[in-house]
Amino acid sequence: MRGACSCGGVVFEITPPLRDVIACHCSQCRKWSGHYWAATSVPHDRFRLVAAKGLRWFRSSPTAKRGFCGTCGSKLFWQPEGEERISLSPGVLEGPTGLAIATHIYPEDAGDYYAAEGPPPEPSLTGNLQGSCLCGANRFTLPGPMGEVTACHCHQCRTSSGHFAASFDAEESALDWQAQEVTEHRAPGGSQRGFCSTCGSSLYFRAADGAFSVEAGVVDNPTGGRLASHIFVADKGDYYGLDDGLPQASGATLP
Ligand SMILES: [Zn+2]
Ligand SMILES: [Zn+2]
Ligand SMILES: [Zn+2]
Repeated sequence: MRGACSCGGVVFEITPPLRDVIACHCSQCRKWSGHYWAATSVPHDRFRLVAAKGLRWFRSSPTAKRGFCGTCGSKLFWQPEGEERISLSPGVLEGPTGLAIATHIYPEDAGDYYAAEGPPPEPSLTGNLQGSCLCGANRFTLPGPMGEVTACHCHQCRTSSGHFAASFDAEESALDWQAQEVTEHRAPGGSQRGFCSTCGSSLYFRAADGAFSVEAGVVDNPTGGRLASHIFVADKGDYYGLDDGLPQASGATLP
């Protein structure tokens, strides 16, 4: 089985069987992926890096590092120190995976705009939103509340986040940056994704027509947001289901 980042600079091959997928809602995985992260895993002897152009590692804790593409921002790997296995994003695997989500971990750390399983809670009260990436090289504020959050299951969002993306509309000019170290990657079609140059955290998406949205996972404080819908579910990964009862669209817009 093959996996690759969005730009094709990082390519790897893995030999099944793969461990079933663990969905992680810890604050590190939420910031990194922009929503929440999910990972499968294989022993090193069944993992082979074929191309590593742009591959960057960020030490996210004393015991683990995270691998991402520095060119396109795709979230790829999680390597715990001293272990003979590597965890990797199911969202970057090509073709059907045959996997399933086995468990959700750190559900108590899920963002307040969704629940790890089941329907999202009622929105919280909020003032300004504070956003930051995992390493802190990017920090910004913008007026709250977050409002409606849209989950996108398109191929690009799945590859970029490693699982799937969730973002909310914002005026780009309303973002007040206290620290900014962003790499932007332009996808075929003209859209651009902004991610942290150091840690790889997903920050924002700018559509070809200029429409701007912020990745929901970067917000640190109560959001006043609520996950409202799923789009591009025709491209959804085969290893997860959607059990929150929210409206779904096979493409860009709800029927
Ligand atoms: Zn790439
Ligand atoms: Zn960062
Ligand atoms: Zn998308």
